[in-house]
Amino acid sequence: MKVIGLTGGIGSGKTTVSDLFGELDIDVVDADVVSRQLTAVNGSAMPEIIRLFGPEAAFPNGSMNRKFIRELVFSDPEAKTVLENILHPLIRKECQRQLDVSQSPYTILSVPLLIESPFWRSSVDRLLVVEAPEALRIERVVQRSNLLSEAVKKIISTQATTAQRLDAADDVIENVGTFEMLKGSVLKLHSMYLSLTKKD
Ligand code: ADP
Repeated sequence: MKVIGLTGGIGSGKTTVSDLFGELDIDVVDADVVSRQLTAVNGSAMPEIIRLFGPEAAFPNGSMNRKFIRELVFSDPEAKTVLENILHPLIRKECQRQLDVSQSPYTILSVPLLIESPFWRSSVDRLLVVEAPEALRIERVVQRSNLLSEAVKKIISTQATTAQRLDAADDVIENVGTFEMLKGSVLKLHSMYLSLTKKD
């Protein structure tokens, strides 16, 4: 048992959870971080993105204009497919590279849309899902970003449902309490994952 998939709807707290595993010296491979690096200044996905979506897809420094791309893919499903066809193979390759070099007893693979993807589901040995009620998730995202609650609801509607995530989960963290409680939940799972690793 080596790769623990970590997922959850937007605002559930999966980044906070992956940070807590990181504090326990567990390597975290984060598909979202990889995706942002690929579309940052000098990101290796940018030449193809500019070629296919035009110069408006990038800022003058060469990083992706997220607002432009977000609006484009929400209004045009074909554009979404084009973007995914550029990004997904690069994200998979880089995540796999990071998994291959990981030295910790097990590795957390954090993917926002893990449930939705047969590829990612088959890449993990066990699946941890972070959950919280939708109203709380919306409140957290509105507080942390400049998105309006309507925009967060729109994102939620594109993600798997809570029932689908719970159905696929081996382990669930209900992130409805304090940070201290969340820390306790992560520590408990960490002990279990270490003991499972030893059995392999
Ligand atoms: P996700 O990665 O699932 O979108 P985050 O981990 O970024 O979610 O959490 C969303 C926001 O909610 C962040 O600002 C985070 O600090 C906050 N948050 C997460 N868990 C808790 C908690 N148990 N108590 C208070 N705030 C929390």
